[in-house]
Amino acid sequence: VSNKLEDFEVLEVIGSGSFGTCYKVCNKYDKMIYVCKAIDYGKMDENQKELLVSEVNVLSGLKHPNIVQYHSRIINKKTTTLYIIMEYCEGGDLASIIVSCKKNKKPIEEGFIWQVLYQTGRALQACHSHLKHVVVLHRDIKPANVFLDSAGNVKLGDFGLARILQKEESCAETVVGTPFYMSPEVLGGGKYNRKSDIWALGCLIYELCALSPPFVASSFKLLTSSIKSGRFDRIPAHYSDDLHKMISFMLSVDHEYRPTIEMVLHHPAVVVRVSQRS
Ligand code: ADP
Ligand code: MG
Repeated sequence: VSNKLEDFEVLEVIGSGSFGTCYKVCNKYDKMIYVCKAIDYGKMDENQKELLVSEVNVLSGLKHPNIVQYHSRIINKKTTTLYIIMEYCEGGDLASIIVSCKKNKKPIEEGFIWQVLYQTGRALQACHSHLKHVVVLHRDIKPANVFLDSAGNVKLGDFGLARILQKEESCAETVVGTPFYMSPEVLGGGKYNRKSDIWALGCLIYELCALSPPFVASSFKLLTSSIKSGRFDRIPAHYSDDLHKMISFMLSVDHEYRPTIEMVLHHPAVVVRVSQRS
């Protein structure tokens, strides 16, 4: 694995986020394509920097076919930039797919949605068991963080980092980025837990079907009461009752009734769909 910036040739800028820019790069020696994410840590305080380092360490230890693979990190102290080299996901992220399907009024195929449920679930299962003893990292499941490779496989990415990066934003910006996927227990002041991830997964699957989140409102206060009510419209009629029921299960307001990731992955409706595809 290369550890020098000079070993990579920048092919194009993929996009920029709140803290830096993502580049599509090519390793000059093995000719492999990667993503290089540049994060400027110059404005972070010591605590944030420590958190960033420890989270990158955790991420680099995660290896799973449905998790964006981290390859290496390069630090440039002069420019206070951390470069993270990771797997390139050719298919882009689910947020862009939702935007284009909405624009073209073209629904997402149900079989693909079951596949996203299963593969994102597998990634979550790996995180939950790997990170048993790690408290710093919390997942941020949302369409922009779920990627697709060239074969259409799901790759969960960008988790953990998102949380640190958000801390730097001003209060105003934090309010603008409405937390559509926040679970009732977190809104109620409870702790973020594994079941909160299941809630977010339910929101993600719902959004793929309806092309908009299950709970939307014009203010944070209204959004909170909408989420706590647990009431949402059925997904469009052409999607099966099985899918609707699975989403409703994951969106149980009481997290005691919400399934664990194991229950989702072993659910007959999921097992049948997934085995049909392979
Ligand atoms: P943001 O703060 O918007 O999440 P990112 O730096 O995470 O910004 O991502 C910027 C852009 O790069 C986004 O369009 C995202 O989809 C894309 N991107 C990030 N990681 C990858 C990856 N591993 N493969 C392909 N595209 C990626
Ligand atoms: Mg991102």
